[in-house]
Amino acid sequence: MSLANGRSYLAIPGPSVMPDRVLQAMHRPAPNIYSGELVDLVASVVPDLKAIAGTNHNVAIYIANGHGIWEAALANTLAPGETVLALATGRFGAGWAEMAARIGINPRVLDFGLSATYDLEVIKEVLRADTECEIKAITTVQVDTSTSVRNDIKALRDAIDEVGHPALLMVDCIACLGCEEFRMDDWGVDVMIAASQKGLMTPPGVGFVFFGPKAAEARNGLNQISAYWDWNPRANPDEFYQYFAGTAPTHHLFALREALTMLVHEEGLENAYARHKTLARAVWAALEAWGKEGSIALNIADESLRSFVVTSVNIDAPNATALRDYLTENLGVTLGIGLGMAPSGSPEWHGHFRIGHMGHVNAHMVLGVIGCIDAGLKALNIQHGSGAMDAAVRVIAEA
Ligand SMILES: *Cc1c(COP(=O)(O)O)cnc(C)c1O
Repeated sequence: MSLANGRSYLAIPGPSVMPDRVLQAMHRPAPNIYSGELVDLVASVVPDLKAIAGTNHNVAIYIANGHGIWEAALANTLAPGETVLALATGRFGAGWAEMAARIGINPRVLDFGLSATYDLEVIKEVLRADTECEIKAITTVQVDTSTSVRNDIKALRDAIDEVGHPALLMVDCIACLGCEEFRMDDWGVDVMIAASQKGLMTPPGVGFVFFGPKAAEARNGLNQISAYWDWNPRANPDEFYQYFAGTAPTHHLFALREALTMLVHEEGLENAYARHKTLARAVWAALEAWGKEGSIALNIADESLRSFVVTSVNIDAPNATALRDYLTENLGVTLGIGLGMAPSGSPEWHGHFRIGHMGHVNAHMVLGVIGCIDAGLKALNIQHGSGAMDAAVRVIAEA
């Protein structure tokens, strides 16, 4: 029986749920793009973005998704033929390296597998061996959205400093910015990238590159950079149109303004971080209960390495696909596919799914998803431990 009619819930890790206020802010005619309200609005979002990033330095805004922002960050820091050390802890760390290769940068990938963080000893060894300093930058993700691992960025910075290697540290926070703590300046991050459609609760299409003084120096040392990717005019425009190298993404900016108001000025970042952490703990508690019988398991076993914005789950194939389909068709909740965990088209691909819990999510939404997964496991006769709902409810009640 279908019980899907009603407000549906896309519980995938991006695009995340957009607040009605954010959507409504877009429902209006285009503003003048040369003067007036839009100019003031952009001036007002810049400090809020920097506050979320924890930086006093620069931000360049692009009309792009995450892939575009990957390229923007690389195009401003590395020349073709130069080497980047890419730390892969899932599909997204690897994906950034693939983008580098396509524009002639030489990626050296250190792959740490699909259910772990990076090994700092291995990284230090590679950096120590790089006596000619051929590695110009190190790329990593704070949260890899495919595996749901959270990497310790401060510990990575300390490891680089311990070796004394001069490479830039570049961090992808696309999944988690605004939902998990990030302190760009305090943690010594040179470049940080983010996008609108995950923790920032805004439709996909706008991305951000934050950069500090060392990265600015790298940009200024390049022989050539495309007029479109160049972050200098975007970060320090003489004329308004230079913020976007052309027409501003007017409606995305109205949406972003509203989202930043909600996140930074109304809820407050610390409260948003605490909310995400508690909601994530409710999801984990449910998964641990289900996992007591049958094959269902959290992809990241070590709790201290689990992201607060997305949870990757493994289960005997093809039960992940069966469960996802059942929930979408019958219960009005859509879970995320497994990404990068098994080759697409292989039988194993159907043994992974993800729960997105980033951005505009609260207790009843997360409990609803858990209850629907529980119903799906029962309806499909998939073996699982009992007490998941109760375990999740207890996390919420005790928060
Ligand atoms: C979503 C995501 C990306 C890619 O973003 P797109 O907008 O899909 O191009 C890159 N990195 C991380 C960590 C992500 O979560």
